[in-house]
Amino acid sequence: MDCIFCKIAAGEIPSAKVYEDGDVLAFRDINPQAPVHVLVIPKRHIASCDEITEDNSDAVAKIFRAIPKVAAAEGLTNGYRVITNVGEDGCQSVHHMHFHVLGGKKLPERMS
Ligand code: AMP
Ligand code: ZN
Repeated sequence: MDCIFCKIAAGEIPSAKVYEDGDVLAFRDINPQAPVHVLVIPKRHIASCDEITEDNSDAVAKIFRAIPKVAAAEGLTNGYRVITNVGEDGCQSVHHMHFHVLGGKKLPERMS
């Protein structure tokens, strides 16, 4: 499958890794929108949150178990924001589910 995040998960495309376990990878966003901007992905391809089912929802739990570890590793002791964009209206540009972890400064109050 021609999916850039699958290729990153497989190590075929390099990334700046922040955290990795058997199911989850976290790496720095190539175009950071905050002092800390990390993407947390399931290694197994899921197109977006809209594709979550009973059969694959464990991936979400695993990602959310990884996020506090990412935050701690990045020194986000004063809070952070987790965002996932879905589909056209959500401006999702990479169609492999990912959670943006943003922090390192006081983020704007408005989200859109
Ligand atoms: P989204 O717009 O929510 O789909 O987010 C996709 C994100 O992936 C954007 O913030 C991009 O900057 C980021 N991105 C795209 N390609 C790469 C890459 N090769 N390495 C790291 N981040 C990437
Ligand atoms: Zn993929």
